[in-house]
Amino acid sequence: MLKKINYVSVHGGHSGEFVAHAEDKLENIVKAYIEAGFQWVGITEHVPPEKDEFMTPDDVEAGFNSTILKNTFAKYIVECKRLKKKYSSKIIIFTGFETENWSGYKKFIPDLIKEFKPDYIVGSLHQVSDLQFDYSRDNYEKAADILGGYDNLYCKYFDEQYKMILDLKPAVVGHFDLIRIFDADYKTRIQKKKIWNRITRNLELIRQFDLIMDFNLRALYKGADEPYISAVILKKAKQLGIKVVPGDDSHGVKNIGINMEQGINILKNYGFDTEWPKPVLYDY
Ligand SMILES: [Zn+2]
Ligand SMILES: [Zn+2]
Repeated sequence: MLKKINYVSVHGGHSGEFVAHAEDKLENIVKAYIEAGFQWVGITEHVPPEKDEFMTPDDVEAGFNSTILKNTFAKYIVECKRLKKKYSSKIIIFTGFETENWSGYKKFIPDLIKEFKPDYIVGSLHQVSDLQFDYSRDNYEKAADILGGYDNLYCKYFDEQYKMILDLKPAVVGHFDLIRIFDADYKTRIQKKKIWNRITRNLELIRQFDLIMDFNLRALYKGADEPYISAVILKKAKQLGIKVVPGDDSHGVKNIGINMEQGINILKNYGFDTEWPKPVLYDY
């Protein structure tokens, strides 16, 4: 008899309770994961900005500042640890967080790890050279203009990602190729030699540190035709023996469980281990 493949998420559970751009209370999100039959979930809320100038537009609009956001983050960790205990007979919860790549992260993130003791972290880039690129198409075009075009934007992204992986050794590397978010030509662009060389270099580093890659299903939810990681990169990751695990990157109750079958099927067809390996915090 075929064994059912478990639903898990290495990256998800963003909630409206703790960040402005998500929805719902964290407890309701945890309940939705239980209802959808998840075996385990890493709740990985965004870190607060170190400085006011690193706030996203929705945080600015909401009248927040970096101190308020740090306090909110502290409450998130407490609440997540409470829910982890409360629902421990129903689901395995990891209390994690997702990094940002603003200048100063190399000290700021390890300081947060020391202070809040997460179970693990997701290492992500939503900025290149301190330019937020994933917030809107306008942001993306602006970043590309400043850095001298799309190719340069990609090269910079993968160079900064390489540094981030070396500096933080995150248990999970978040949405590896997010830099393609607003680029219609990404499938040809990622195969350009100077970009592909950087991609394979980063994959080899991930392999060397034995990190997990987030197979990020939010791309499907937002209308892309494949998750992050794109097929050619996924194939290379498999060849290198890298662990890849689904991450739903949920930002509210209504995102939970959707596209999970599709994501699991892709990973199964590529031959990835569907006894999903669990993330562990690198020993700093
Ligand atoms: Zn988010
Ligand atoms: Zn992210």
